[in-house]
Amino acid sequence: MPAERIDGVAIAAKVRARVAAEAATLGALGVQPGLTVVLVGDDPASAFYVGAKEKACREAGMRGETIRLPAATPEAELLAVIDRLNADPAVHGILVQMPVPKHMDPQKVIRRIDPTKDVDGFHPVNAGKVLIGDADGFAPCTPAGVQVLLAESGVETAGKEAVILGRSTIVGKPMAALLMQAGRGADCTVTVCHSRTKDLAAHTRRADILIAAIGRPEMVTADMVKPGAVVIDVGINRVDDPATKKGYRIVGDVRFDEVAAVASRITPVPGGVGPMTIAMLLANTVRAARLRHEGAART
Ligand code: NDP
Repeated sequence: MPAERIDGVAIAAKVRARVAAEAATLGALGVQPGLTVVLVGDDPASAFYVGAKEKACREAGMRGETIRLPAATPEAELLAVIDRLNADPAVHGILVQMPVPKHMDPQKVIRRIDPTKDVDGFHPVNAGKVLIGDADGFAPCTPAGVQVLLAESGVETAGKEAVILGRSTIVGKPMAALLMQAGRGADCTVTVCHSRTKDLAAHTRRADILIAAIGRPEMVTADMVKPGAVVIDVGINRVDDPATKKGYRIVGDVRFDEVAAVASRITPVPGGVGPMTIAMLLANTVRAARLRHEGAART
């Protein structure tokens, strides 16, 4: 039987509806959750993502603002903007769109954001909180979204073998930290694979839950997947396709059709993990607003 599709669009819509309800509750208390995105430069892909984030905020009844700075902005000027946002009580979430221009140090930029406003979850304080299982922390949006996808699809995680392909700071590592914690939607036995892993397929074939985040188009094939596994495809890859109007199409890290014949559940690309990322950004922002309102935000 072919795998059931995990519908990221529908689950993201549910998360966004919950965020809108929480924003309305906070609104009644006189707090409008607000996210400020800072975009340095004019990279078209970044501009697109930033526009989508601002729109999603407004649709959830939140304040969404974008500060656009020229590509040649000195690093000190960006840091001064972050300082101002850190001090602004109307701003609950701050996100500096990555990548920043080459003359800036991204780690310096990330570390300047107040961790209680770091709704991207990239600050080392939040990375540490996610690792120690401190519920106060903000998890990076993509792995947090994967965890919600699993929970909302009724996937049992406790005691399962989770194999993660990729060890990046924004996906693979926090994904491992989230799934290895004790508690609901976690309690997995986690293996993290990367480009130096020997015999990748020997690991992936053990996975009850296989999460691919490597950025290699359709690299995961059916023979690498255990029958009945749940497969989550984080990859977003552009491949040439002269048959399409744009001349390219977007595929994941998993060869969808053949893996869908083996897996029990699978996320499509697009329409799987992608929509969850913005939904979790909104969820983190509304939570940041709630914590601040209750005086519970702490580093
Ligand atoms: P990175 O390039 O930062 O990390 C890729 C990871 O995959 C690295 O750890 C690398 O290993 C590993 N890797 C690469 N090739 C292989 C291989 N042949 N075998 C085993 N491991 C390999 O990517 P990201 O984590 O940022 O993103 C991964 C994918 O997810 C991309 O397609 C990206 O576009 C997508 N993405 C999607 C998001 C969404 O919203 N859906 C959000 C973020 C990312 P090593 O460390 O050894 O180099």
